[in-house]
Amino acid sequence: MPTYAYRCRECTETFELLRPMSESGAPAACPDGHTDTVKLLTTVALTGAASGPAAPAGGGGGGCCGGGCCG
Ligand SMILES: [Zn+2]
Repeated sequence: MPTYAYRCRECTETFELLRPMSESGAPAACPDGHTDTVKLLTTVALTGAASGPAAPAGGGGGGCCGGGCCG
């Protein structure tokens, strides 16, 4: 479930909410209960999403240590 960032225009508090995409545009009350909030640029933090290149976990690729030259 993505995380959405909001900012309260009453107390200028920035907060994040974990909510389904279908509710990303729904009103979000700040932790202090104010409802005058604006949605910030989506900082999507999808749980389990791949981050960074999928590098092989060392060895096994026929590299230096794979051929026994450094062992
Ligand atoms: Zn507030």
